[in-house]
Amino acid sequence: MSAALETSALTKRFGKAPAAVDNLSITVPRRAIYGFLGANGAGKTTTLKLVLGLLRPDAGSIRLFGKPRAEASARIGSLIETPSLYDHLTGRENLDIARRLLGLPPREIDRVLEIVDLDRSAARRRAGGYSLGMRQRLAIARALLGSPQLLILDEPANGLDPDGIRDMRTLLRRLPEIGDMTLIVSSHLLSEVELVATHVGLLHRGRLLVEAPLDQLRGDEAVEVATADPAQSARILIDAGFSVVTNRPANAPMLVTGAQPAAIASLLVARGQSLSHLSTRRQSLETIYHDQIGRAA
Ligand code: ATP
Repeated sequence: MSAALETSALTKRFGKAPAAVDNLSITVPRRAIYGFLGANGAGKTTTLKLVLGLLRPDAGSIRLFGKPRAEASARIGSLIETPSLYDHLTGRENLDIARRLLGLPPREIDRVLEIVDLDRSAARRRAGGYSLGMRQRLAIARALLGSPQLLILDEPANGLDPDGIRDMRTLLRRLPEIGDMTLIVSSHLLSEVELVATHVGLLHRGRLLVEAPLDQLRGDEAVEVATADPAQSARILIDAGFSVVTNRPANAPMLVTGAQPAAIASLLVARGQSLSHLSTRRQSLETIYHDQIGRAA
């Protein structure tokens, strides 16, 4: 079965700067929740705008459900950057305008309100008085009008408080189950992506560093190592060909991948390092992210 989205050698330049999207080939399988990751300026929004036809590529191609982008009849819902809502209108009126433009029946509004869990009394209130979380949900409800096969959300949890983030997570997880839907979600919140994504694509300076099912990516266990002289220990491990992540949150031990714990311990001890901690853990997306970015640099 053809992928929901396939880009091939996609390239986009703005002026003389290095290409914002550089020879990018990604594949988003159907029914995936594809976490699209990368630092600020990595090219995520530009890629998503190219997919939506809001920007024209300089080179490369985009296929949606097996067809060239321009010929694809599949409906795509999207929420890119901050949601543009009519603040003086109610939530329901906002949806009604979009519904009419799409030529959909009125009952479609209740369907999407229910999915995003905006109740009827909230839908009767002016959107201008909504919290950011409610605005995001209303904008997603609007993107869901007409049951899109592909939903593209750019930073849907941006700026939300912990409750809002949790609600967004619940909603995102539910979406592929509601219909035959594929989700692409760009985000900086690695711990969030880890909780919802089935697949991950990591972008760095417009290029794809890694793309894989999340389970596969997390498959290798990492070893946490703390010693009296972490800098020296890291050098020893790197010289021995192990992959070491040191730029971790304050006081967190370094992470070593590509080696068994026993091999790490005996190497460090043999080189006179004093070990204070050694444990194995499954790789978090954060580790994978820093590891991949570190290698690219
Ligand atoms: P963020 O996480 O900050 O949203 P991003 O990964 O979405 O980042 P993009 O917004 O796609 O990154 O930007 C990629 C690069 O392209 C950046 O260097 C940005 O400055 C540049 N860029 C994006 N849009 C334009 C534009 N309209 N004109 C000129 N440069 C642009």
